[in-house]
Amino acid sequence: MYQVKPDIAFKKKVVKISGSALGECMQCGNCSVVCTLAPDDRPFPRKEMVWAGWGLKDKLLGNPDIWLCHQCGDCSTHCPRNVKPADVISAVRKTTIQNYARPGFIAKILSKPALLPIAIAIPVIIITLILSLAGTFKIPEGPVDYSKFFPHIWLNTTFTFITLAFYAFSFVGLSRFWKDMKMIIPSGDQNLSLFKSTISVVKEVLGHRKFSECESRKPRNYAHMLVFFGFALLLLVTLYAIVAAITHNYPLPFTNPFKIIGNLASLMLYSGLIIMMWQRLFRKDIAGKSTYEDWLLLVSMLLLTLSGTLVEAARFLNWSLAYHIYFFHLVCVWFVIMYLPFTKLGHIFYRTLAMIYARSINRN
Ligand code: SF4
Ligand code: SF4
Repeated sequence: MYQVKPDIAFKKKVVKISGSALGECMQCGNCSVVCTLAPDDRPFPRKEMVWAGWGLKDKLLGNPDIWLCHQCGDCSTHCPRNVKPADVISAVRKTTIQNYARPGFIAKILSKPALLPIAIAIPVIIITLILSLAGTFKIPEGPVDYSKFFPHIWLNTTFTFITLAFYAFSFVGLSRFWKDMKMIIPSGDQNLSLFKSTISVVKEVLGHRKFSECESRKPRNYAHMLVFFGFALLLLVTLYAIVAAITHNYPLPFTNPFKIIGNLASLMLYSGLIIMMWQRLFRKDIAGKSTYEDWLLLVSMLLLTLSGTLVEAARFLNWSLAYHIYFFHLVCVWFVIMYLPFTKLGHIFYRTLAMIYARSINRN
């Protein structure tokens, strides 16, 4: 027997983020019928609309189905009451990240525009402290050489340590999320091993198959692919740069294959991010309702790419402001990479885990 425990504050929060008139949902089920991704058994998003309407926080936050939705918007397009189920699911996803992220106060800081100065101050203060400890917090003389400002050994050890620490904390929240998924949608008799499920999900993510199954908002697919692969390539190039710095083979010349890949990846990111921003500004029918979290992610990723390009240009052209731009770029790195488990980008973890779990219980 399930005991209904409504949480009105949670319902109000979902309504506020999504802008949906939840009470208008008449449970016709149209949304689940048109959704090409919903499984036959207990399909979404109709049941999520009832749960959200009742404020059933416990059932929604650990619900893997929330992450199987790829935000195509078909359900919202065909909803006869204009209740925007796609935006409701998106709002629940944002609340899920805030609920499971550890330490929780960082997720809170990153979810409120009024606390943005604190979110910026944290990396500024910590990077300044590291540079002061390294004894290099001053503009070096001579041609631009970033390693004189932030020695590689200090940069690589401190940034790697802080990233791993943040991700280790988030592992605690993700373990709880996994446990909750098992409770809310229990496994049946026909299970697939976690290894096989993971391989199948990785193939699906790389091929962006689920994205292309959605009808109404197909253009989102191309923008997401550009950002996804551009970001993945830049991470690969960054890992290579860390190794190159250790082997004293840094900075890389323009003709180095990794440098070329890095610049191509930046172009992919620029294109994908500009398309996404254009859709959020002028094509709400494609992008859905935009929130602070959506813009924080898009703007921080664009600033990261832009400052990375400027850092490169400043070194080659010996700009006097090179070190100031470099400092700004490091703050952007912090925003996108270190804050990842707390922002919308955390969907990389949550969606992947939910897809693996769903695949492992044959919920396709
Ligand atoms: S959200 Fe819309 S389509 Fe879905 S059940 Fe409610 S009224 Fe029907
Ligand atoms: S947004 Fe698309 S994938 Fe998500 S529930 Fe609606 S129809 Fe299904």
